Amino acid sequence: MARDDWETVAPFPETLAEIREANGETYRYCYQCGKCDAVCPWNRVRGFSMRRIVREASFGLTEIESEDVWRCTTCGTCPQECPRGVQQVELGVALRRVASKYDVFPAGARPARAVRASLTLEGNPLNEERARRGDWARDLGVRPFEEGMEILYFVGCYYSYDRRLRKAAAATARILQRAGVRFGILGEREGCCGESVRKTGAEQLFRELARANIKTWIDAGVRRIVVSSPHCFHTFRNEYPEFQVHFEVLHLSQFLRDLLRDGRLKLTGSVPRRVAYHDPCYLGRHNGVFDEPREVLRAVPGLELLELSDARQRSLCCGGGGGRIWMDTPRGERFSDLRLDQARDVGAEALATACPYCITMFEDSRLTREGEGLPAVLELAEIVAEAL
Ligand code: SF4
Ligand code: SF4
Repeated sequence: MARDDWETVAPFPETLAEIREANGETYRYCYQCGKCDAVCPWNRVRGFSMRRIVREASFGLTEIESEDVWRCTTCGTCPQECPRGVQQVELGVALRRVASKYDVFPAGARPARAVRASLTLEGNPLNEERARRGDWARDLGVRPFEEGMEILYFVGCYYSYDRRLRKAAAATARILQRAGVRFGILGEREGCCGESVRKTGAEQLFRELARANIKTWIDAGVRRIVVSSPHCFHTFRNEYPEFQVHFEVLHLSQFLRDLLRDGRLKLTGSVPRRVAYHDPCYLGRHNGVFDEPREVLRAVPGLELLELSDARQRSLCCGGGGGRIWMDTPRGERFSDLRLDQARDVGAEALATACPYCITMFEDSRLTREGEGLPAVLELAEIVAEAL
């Protein structure tokens, strides 16, 4: 079929333009081998075909109103397996941009649209007040960031507001204080990094959030940033440079590893537990940070580190990326359930990770499966703080 022919049958004219912009030419290299479907975690819980999405997109014939457009968690597993270099994640995001432009959201994706108002008004997706962003740090002796401090601790939305994750933020503050790190937070001057909402197709909103953070950092004299969330890490490191800025960004696991190596952080308390480590997609597969969190866990006295059956590059996604954290996933289709089973199968007493979405997904799974003897869920900082 000639290009002009398939353009005339495209149901949404912008679809083709968006697809081309998102390296659309790569979709035409797809030879339908199906490797993407073979490795996609969805096919462990229900049918889903990225291969079909690529094929339809290459003709501009995607059904924009389909729930499948919203299913990909952007975990990054299929792009690393594709023999033709197809960029499936970028394609999925491009399709969501088209859906957003036409305001076409199937029922399952509506929560991803709903968070946009809260992000626009309050700078977080959780319907919380901007003014309360720094409340978690009250009474913990955490200082506002000032120019000249060693690092900015960029806390992130979930660690700032979510009751479960605030414990991890408090643990982080305790560790940094014990190591003598001169750090500060921005409190209400901090806003969402914008990573996940961008993956739902809200490009303009992402740009506004990114510009606001960048301006704040420049005004405050920030140079070095430590983040708890791999999603903040990914976007600050790989996407904010689109705005011609370059800040030094470290994930907390990297910074803790350095503090331990330099002898600034000493762990003396024992944590006698069998702990399995889960690689978050945006820390591991997308950014290659596999060893640092493991090195930190190995430095914890008494802790026995276990490996899950799907680890490192082949880590099984928790299900929360790509904006799925805001969407409802029915029981029986949650990757996090499978991950907890894997942790139990290797004899772990706790499943450790270093991502707010993973923690949220795993804790949700544990709640709905109470009484099944599943391991505890712990954030890396919580384990380290226990060993101080
Ligand atoms: S793995 Fe790549 S070439 Fe194979 S079907 Fe998927 S997108 Fe096409
Ligand atoms: S990026 Fe992950 S969730 Fe998305 S289609 Fe590929 S394997 Fe499936």
